Parts: sequence; C-alpha cells; structure tokens
Amino acid sequence: MQGGGVLHIVATPIGNLGDLAPRVRDTLAGVDLIAAEDTRRCAQLLGHLGIAGVPAVSLHEHNESERVPEIIERLRTGGEVALVSDAGTPLVSDPGFLLVRAAREAGLTVRVVPGPCAAVAALAVSGLPPDRFVFEGFLPSRATARRRRLGELAVETRTLVLYESSHRIADTVADIAATLGGDRSVCLARELTKLHEESVTLTAAGLGEWLAADDNRHRGEFVLVVGGTETPPARYEVDLDRLLSVLLEHMPAKAVARTAAELIGVARNEAYERILKIKEGNHRGAEGTE
Ligand code: SAM
Repeated sequence: MQGGGVLHIVATPIGNLGDLAPRVRDTLAGVDLIAAEDTRRCAQLLGHLGIAGVPAVSLHEHNESERVPEIIERLRTGGEVALVSDAGTPLVSDPGFLLVRAAREAGLTVRVVPGPCAAVAALAVSGLPPDRFVFEGFLPSRATARRRRLGELAVETRTLVLYESSHRIADTVADIAATLGGDRSVCLARELTKLHEESVTLTAAGLGEWLAADDNRHRGEFVLVVGGTETPPARYEVDLDRLLSVLLEHMPAKAVARTAAELIGVARNEAYERILKIKEGNHRGAEGTE
C-alpha cells in the first residue's frame, strides 16, 4: 500500500514562459521541497511565478545518487517534493530517473505535471512519420563512436529523434548523410518556442548545405528528427559455428569473438566459448586422422 508524501515530476518550458501551465505554479507553490537540476534557474522560475519561501535542493547528474536517500526520507515522512529540470520534462536527457525509481521502489506515490518536451515538439513539427518513433537523445560526442552508433541505427525503420548541441550540429548532420545516406529525410528544429524558432525538413545532404550557408543557423538548441529507412535489409539466418569457423581462418580468436558480436549481436563470451569448442573439435579431428 502506498503511503507518505508525493513526488511530483513537473515539466517546465523549453524556452517560452508563456507555456507555463497553471498546474506548474499550483504544484510548485504547494510542495515542501523542490529538487532542481539548477537551484539558481529554479529560483528565477519561482520568481517569475511569484512563489516565495519554498526551499530547493540541487539534483543533477553528478549528485543524484547521493541526494536520493535524503529526498526519499523526506517523502516517507509525508513531505511533498517537486522535481524540476532546467527545461522541459525531467528525466528526458535530464536527471530524475534514480529518484523516481527509488520512490517507486519505496512504495511512494509519483505524479506528473506533464508539459513541454523538445523531442515531442520537434517530432510534431517535422512532417516525418510520428506514429512510431525512437528517442535516441544525444549521440556520443566522439566522432568514431557517433558514426558507429549511427551505423547501428541505419536499419531502423521508425523515425529517430536526436538531441544535439550547437557546436556538433554540422558534424552530426554530415555523419548522418555519410552513414544513413545523403537522401535520408531529416528535420532540423532549432530554438523551438523561442524568438528564433525555425524548422526545416530536407535531405541529409541538403541540410548540410543549408547549415553551411549561414552561421546563424548553427546557434541555439537543436533537435534532429530523422526519417526511418524505407528499405530495411533482408534478415538472414546465421549458422554461428560456421560463421566463427570461417572468421577463424582469417583472424585470431579474440578478434573473431569481437567481430561476431558486432555483426550479429552474439555475446562476446558466448562466441569465445563456441570458438574454444570449435578449436577443440578441430584438434581432436586432426589427432584422429594421424
Ligand atoms: N528535458 C528536456 C526536454 O524535455 O526536452 C531536454 C533536456 S536536454 C539536457 C537539452 C537538449 O534538448 C538541448 O541540447 C536540445 O537538444 C534540446 N532542446 C531543449 N530545448 C530546446 C528548444 N527550445 N529547441 C530545440 N531543442 C531544444
């Protein structure tokens, strides 16, 4: 049975204070404590809403695990706590997951004041199929890892939603063109709900040119919405032992296990154990023919 106080997950605007719903004010004014990604930004929001006297503690990616026990204790003893991030919906590429999970595990009530989320807003304006989509958040910042992840996503038939920062936007668009194909449809949604809001849907190659044409287009906050592939690759049944045996003719065992894991998603240790068995079998076979 649930008892104690309530944890309220409260979404806040992604750039336009006009998007503040009345429930945001009522909820923040009514809690005993606000767990905020950045207490200074939270203070600005409270000032805007005319709320005074509600204490806030920071809860960000570097302190969330230490903060959770004290907030859970507060909730257990009947406290009402609100969770806010700097912008948009907490937990969506933002802190809060550890707290929400702990609150649920403790049998506490979790409620939500839903509201803005850049991913959903961009999907809505993109003109790309919205019925099935995959939220990928931020791609890896390092080029090699980013391209590898995009390579894995190339076969995805659902629409992809990515977050990106201003200093990587051009590189990521170029990587999408190189990995998924220059003709893939991509929507770039920039500064949504703000003064310089714009969104364009072009081919990946065309979007690279569009960005290159004007430095101002690299400014602000970005969501990329990428159309899924229309030609998913045919799936083949793979005989694992046959695959491993063929690869073993060309590379050492560890490289074979790694390659098989990359190619067909088999666990590396499982592949390695099969390799040892294959080698053992080959060895016995060779002894038998002597
Ligand atoms: N929790 C937030 C949400 O619900 O959208 C996302 C937080 S994440 C740390 C910040 C990223 O969201 C930005 O780097 C950008 O990719 C995207 N974003 C946030 N506000 C945006 C806006 N107004 N326009 C476009 N993208 C935005």
